[in-house]
Amino acid sequence: MALVKCAWCEGSGVDGPGDSPCDICGGDGFLEVPDPATKCGRCNGSGRIKNEITEEVSRCAGCNGSGWAT
Ligand SMILES: [Zn+2]
Ligand SMILES: [Zn+2]
Repeated sequence: MALVKCAWCEGSGVDGPGDSPCDICGGDGFLEVPDPATKCGRCNGSGRIKNEITEEVSRCAGCNGSGWAT
């Protein structure tokens, strides 16, 4: 396993406005992925997918927001 930075909270452990802990990394800012760590190809490691029509940013379905392939 490899320890990688959570893309959704960018390692802060906090999810969005307010201080609610990031539910992807559990508030640690880091998470474990299988070695070797590989960025998610769908979101290119950002954990976010932008809807081209509505411009709404949502969690990547490929990695569930972590930014890493699991
Ligand atoms: Zn996180
Ligand atoms: Zn992704």
